[in-house]
Amino acid sequence: MALTGIEIFKLLPKTNCKECGEPTCLAFAMKLAAGKAELSKCPYVSDEAKAKLSEASAPPILPVTIGTGERALKVGGETVMFRHEKRFENPPGFALLISDGMDDAEAGRRLGKFKQLQYERIGLTLRPDLIAAKCGSGDKAKFAALVGKVKQGSDGGIILMSDNPDIMAAGLAACADRKPLLYAATEENWEKMAELAKSSSCPLAVKADGLEKLAALTEKLTGAGVKNMVIDSGSRSLRQAFEDQIIIRSSALAKKFRPLGFPTIVFPCEMTDDPMKEAVISSMFVAKYGGIIVLSDFQGESLFPLLVERLNIYTDPQRPLATKEGIYDIGNPDENSPVLITSNFSLTYFIVSGEIETSRVPSWLLVKDTEGLSVMTAWAAGKFVADAIAPFVKKSGIADKVKHHKLVIPGYAAAESGGLEEELGDWEIQVGPREGSNIPAYLKTWKP
Ligand code: SF4
Repeated sequence: MALTGIEIFKLLPKTNCKECGEPTCLAFAMKLAAGKAELSKCPYVSDEAKAKLSEASAPPILPVTIGTGERALKVGGETVMFRHEKRFENPPGFALLISDGMDDAEAGRRLGKFKQLQYERIGLTLRPDLIAAKCGSGDKAKFAALVGKVKQGSDGGIILMSDNPDIMAAGLAACADRKPLLYAATEENWEKMAELAKSSSCPLAVKADGLEKLAALTEKLTGAGVKNMVIDSGSRSLRQAFEDQIIIRSSALAKKFRPLGFPTIVFPCEMTDDPMKEAVISSMFVAKYGGIIVLSDFQGESLFPLLVERLNIYTDPQRPLATKEGIYDIGNPDENSPVLITSNFSLTYFIVSGEIETSRVPSWLLVKDTEGLSVMTAWAAGKFVADAIAPFVKKSGIADKVKHHKLVIPGYAAAESGGLEEELGDWEIQVGPREGSNIPAYLKTWKP
């Protein structure tokens, strides 16, 4: 049973030292009970208290990692029902289905798509995460061959799909070092699947027919020593699958019901034959509350909107999207190319860099860290003013890249031109357009 806030408070040091970021131990205890704080934030909890608090302090939805290295995917770890309460933590993974029933050409085409369909946006690479290798043949050699091909052909995470433990073992032998997700333990095979998951240290997906049976099965697996689980309620109708996602999330968060406190896996690919409907269903699970979303195929026109939706929903609402501070070279600029400066609000960067590209005038773009604020807001907040811009320009190293010392500032920051000329000494400050759409015309007439 989870502890209440008062019970947790009794186990804390009660010194109100504030080092955990909360004003009092009681406030910290309340957040811990609500699953909105981590016990490790308090450095003074005794070992004895830690042991007692371990259940209360465990995340209500366990974070589970699939894969290794750079492409490892972490799902779960969520602490809120709604994004505006705090933020969503770990974006769901998109998985592409490949079956050993497909011929080599089709499997190869899908692997090619998995690699090819990725997009640069606001300095980030948006791409799918996993390949779900499914045994449709019932032949373990064929399945192992497919898994080998998937492993060779992609650095993404892998889901192994078979409810036959022998076939699963053959697939696992082909890619155990990539720490795949094993899908799935069921009422019939859970003991053998638990052994495979434990011996390979791989996460295990658990599937049952309905939430009650699912909770009973995860309890058995927990008792058998399996920790990292991903759950599938078995529903393949839109309405039931949607309801299940809501009930799973609210049971884990509001009721602290541990048997459902795991990230989920959902299968829009098994809910419709219409690719567009499948994309719409997937979009619903991005918002509510799919952990891994398995699609029957990837099409650029449906995958891209899903990736953008995921990016938007899993952006921290308290922190604007920001681009990294630095010098960005656009179109192979040289020592005679113009130097422009802007703020690091991602949308601003996206628009300004896009307009520079459109102009076809190779340029240097300095991006100043304004904590993700746009030029005008940053200027009003004192983050895009001469005193802040000048030290950045000096230490950026741009002076070594160009012969001229002319800096184009945004029209909205024109008031800073005098201050910048004073601060930067040998730089000439030029006031550029207010609107990004006027940048191409401005650059075409710019002279070093
Ligand atoms: Fe209390 Fe620990 Fe927070 Fe200090 S750090 S206020 S002792 S809970």
